[in-house]
Amino acid sequence: MVKERDQVSVWGACLKVIKDNVSSQAYRTWFEPIIPVKLKSGILTIQVPSQFFYEWLEEHYITLLKKIIKKELGPKGRLEYSIIMESSSTSSNPYTIKIPTVDRTPIKNPAVAMPIDLNKDTIRNPFVIPGLKKIKVDSQLNPAYTLDNFIEGDCNRLARSAGYAVAEKPGGTSFNPLLIYGGAGLGKTHLAHAIGIQMKERYPEKTVLYVTADRFQSQFVDAIRSNNKNDFVHFYQMIDFLIIDDVQFFSGKEKTQDVFFHIFNHLHQTGKQLILTADKPPIEMQGMEQRLLSRFKWGLSADLQVPDLETRIAILDTKIKMDGIEMPKDVAEYLAYSITSNIRELQGALITLLAQSSFNKKPINLELAKAMIDKFVKNTAREVSIDYIQKVVCDYFDLPIELLKSKTRKRDVVQARQLAMYFSKSMTKSSLAKIGMHCGGKDHATVLHACRTVNNLIDTDKQFKTYVTDLQKKISIE
Ligand code: ADP
Ligand code: MG
Repeated sequence: MVKERDQVSVWGACLKVIKDNVSSQAYRTWFEPIIPVKLKSGILTIQVPSQFFYEWLEEHYITLLKKIIKKELGPKGRLEYSIIMESSSTSSNPYTIKIPTVDRTPIKNPAVAMPIDLNKDTIRNPFVIPGLKKIKVDSQLNPAYTLDNFIEGDCNRLARSAGYAVAEKPGGTSFNPLLIYGGAGLGKTHLAHAIGIQMKERYPEKTVLYVTADRFQSQFVDAIRSNNKNDFVHFYQMIDFLIIDDVQFFSGKEKTQDVFFHIFNHLHQTGKQLILTADKPPIEMQGMEQRLLSRFKWGLSADLQVPDLETRIAILDTKIKMDGIEMPKDVAEYLAYSITSNIRELQGALITLLAQSSFNKKPINLELAKAMIDKFVKNTAREVSIDYIQKVVCDYFDLPIELLKSKTRKRDVVQARQLAMYFSKSMTKSSLAKIGMHCGGKDHATVLHACRTVNNLIDTDKQFKTYVTDLQKKISIE
């Protein structure tokens, strides 16, 4: 039925559908830069400009992409990404790694989802045991995720330093397993890779392997199907330093948990290091066997928390420097102020801003940033933050922010503080108590009083009313 088609025509057909299903901005930002590079055995490979780009597509457009690929290439059609990794240094040779989209439909060819396609050039079948120790396993580590560019903050200090300790002395600390947990986009995957990279640098002869729980599971299913279970187990048992990302994925999958349990025990007993990541602490994991959960707790569970403002700014600054981007300081600050809960989104906003600026040939400035935040960032992040309001108010009155947060009763500071409270009340969903806490540890009654005072002054004091209107304009994200 399907005639001989090449990647260009297939991707062209996909683009037509995509265009009808996403906004034109999104289309220009996320789909125009994609280059179709290969079509082979029902697998379409597309090249994307960065890891981030790939993640963004997976996060926001995966359902659409899956549907379209199925339509164009049939039920077994698959999409693979080829990512150009831009290294921070200038002497970088761009190279490509492949990340297949996870396709949970049964895969006929058992080799497809096994480590074999992780090691194409080194071995035929990693599950063949003879000369076990000689097998060269591609670690699957992403060289862009280093410890050096994993910015330290209060939010991640424990996990980061535990990771560092583990990399220095794998299997030799009490942090075994090291379980890193935290919400989406807070750096679990990055840190896991970074520890792996560090460990590999220290101990080049050791076998390090990074694998997502998802992939582990599908390799296992395929191994069962092709009667390769023992080989599968042996393969994993010879790893010296095993990193499994997103273990919560094992929930409710008893057979996979069972096999992982045995692999875990073997590695642990032989002094090998395990690093696990999860989106929640063991105690909150559901559908997970008790014996496995108790093992998760054997070592150290370290959480990654939402980064504070300073860390967010530092992360953006690093990224901006690394990529050699020219960006006014207030724009970076604005992004860090506006996007508070997720580092991936923060970086997404930065990239979107760059894309917008280059595609539309507009300079990167505060105006563009505001427009972008409004359009692209999820609703939750669109709310103005108290931090941001305070910054705008302080800039307006030329006061240092510390004064606003202090206990001082100086008239001009009190007024600025009251305005910050007033706008925090009217423009964020924060409680009075929270607002008070952010504005120098005041209680909710003080905030209420501030709001009344401001309302009164608006009615009675012309000059004051101008302040309010000006500030309102500056703060609104429009
Ligand atoms: P998770 O696995 O927790 O969902 P990721 O590890 O994928 O999150 O992180 C999302 C993005 O944020 C990645 O691009 C990562 O490089 C970046 N990131 C997270 N934490 C930091 C940090 N502390 N310093 C620099 N970049 C970070
Ligand atoms: Mg992750």
